[in-house]
Amino acid sequence: MANIVAIVGRPNVGKSTLFNRLTESRKAIVDSESGVTRDRHYGKSEWNGLTFSVIDTGGYVQGSSDIFEAEIRKQVKLAIEEATIILFVLDVSEGITADDKVVADLLRRGKKKVFVVSNKVDNFERQGLTGEFYALGLGEPYNISAISGSGTGELLDDVVKNLDADINDEELTIPKFAVVGRPNVGKSSLINALLGKERNIVTSIAGTTRDSINTRYTSFGHDFLLIDTAGIRKKSKVEEDLEFYSVMRSIRAIEDCDVILLLIDAQLGLEAQDINIFRLAETNRKGVVILVNKWDLIEKTTNSTKDYEEKIREKLAPFRDVPIVFTSALTKQRVLKAIEVAEKVYENRIKTIKTRHLNDVMLPIVENQPPAAIKGKHVKIKFINQLPTHAPTFVFYCNLPQYVTEAYMRFLENRMREQFDFAGVPIQLFMRKK
Ligand code: GDP
Ligand code: GDP
Repeated sequence: MANIVAIVGRPNVGKSTLFNRLTESRKAIVDSESGVTRDRHYGKSEWNGLTFSVIDTGGYVQGSSDIFEAEIRKQVKLAIEEATIILFVLDVSEGITADDKVVADLLRRGKKKVFVVSNKVDNFERQGLTGEFYALGLGEPYNISAISGSGTGELLDDVVKNLDADINDEELTIPKFAVVGRPNVGKSSLINALLGKERNIVTSIAGTTRDSINTRYTSFGHDFLLIDTAGIRKKSKVEEDLEFYSVMRSIRAIEDCDVILLLIDAQLGLEAQDINIFRLAETNRKGVVILVNKWDLIEKTTNSTKDYEEKIREKLAPFRDVPIVFTSALTKQRVLKAIEVAEKVYENRIKTIKTRHLNDVMLPIVENQPPAAIKGKHVKIKFINQLPTHAPTFVFYCNLPQYVTEAYMRFLENRMREQFDFAGVPIQLFMRKK
């Protein structure tokens, strides 16, 4: 299960300020990874050694400076469905408003763990004012000032106590593939193409994420878990809700999986929302396979797949090393091929490269093209090691890590990708002082 903390509340109580504070320390890390654009409403946070996702649900609602009650309701319902823990933010300087009551009513009925966060407690005087929030019936308020950060430590101490510490332990050792993509791209059709007739040889796994249908597929020598994000209620939703739902579902599914099968519509090409999902997977360091679906609708020329691939890769830069499969969920063309590719990406993601081999291959490359000297300082890389983490991470030990440029890190990453197959897998390289 994913650890997702959702921030809810009416406008102007300080949700995005709190979001920024919680995701701040991670932001620096993510931003330094070249080219990774951050979602302003979704980020990672870490406290007491536990990593979790933070979502500012208010940020996903249109026109959030002047929104209607209906929008607030929508936001809170989503948080109740998708989050593990909800932070209900209130503004102590304004007390309880009618909108706050709407939120509180929904949260009381929802079954999720809620923390009442009394924000803008900037000084001692204001501490006396938070008492009224008890009346909401959602427990003791936590006094914080999102601007200064005071009180957030105590809040986080209690938040992480309610999160799943064993999140990194694989519940199942079989590969988990999430089928993600925008509405109507063909996710349900793909799942049906895979499972349709074989429903009888398929077992649903109990205890997996509520609301997303996880199915174990065991046949023809394959064994994997499919996480379906198509959603049950999608047919009844209007367009904008659909988009919102698909974002929330994607986040959850991406966290739960090892590899995403990102479906894009062949007729539309790779669009901004597809790239957002791609970046989410990259940020979470999950494997990616891109399926260009509805390929049956495209008129083919001799170079159509090659040209198409190139266009996609340009938009994915700098992480271009991603398998692309042209599928038709309708005719089942290359549907099994897509699964085989996903299995390969899964293998790429979990493999470890022997230290000896890693050094034998990479040290000569480094010697041949060392980092450029900066201000007369020469960087010497002495030793390389893979960390025992869930996604490929490599540490380069050297004398002056601070002098290694982003460009050189990219050079190293590209050589690593050439030498060892990491297709579809985000890898991380670090320089560390020996
Ligand atoms: P949101 O609409 O709930 O996301 O609220 P914002 O995070 O945009 O904050 C609304 C306003 O409250 C902004 O002007 C913030 O600077 C201010 N604000 C947020 N947190 C605090 C706080 O702890 N103390 C004070 N005094 N102002 C705050
Ligand atoms: P979802 O919203 O992503 O689950 O998309 P659906 O699986 O419901 O598909 C949306 C529509 O696209 C349906 O009418 C499907 O029949 C159609 N569709 C899905 N995959 C393909 C495909 O590969 N080729 C064609 N021509 N149509 C497809």
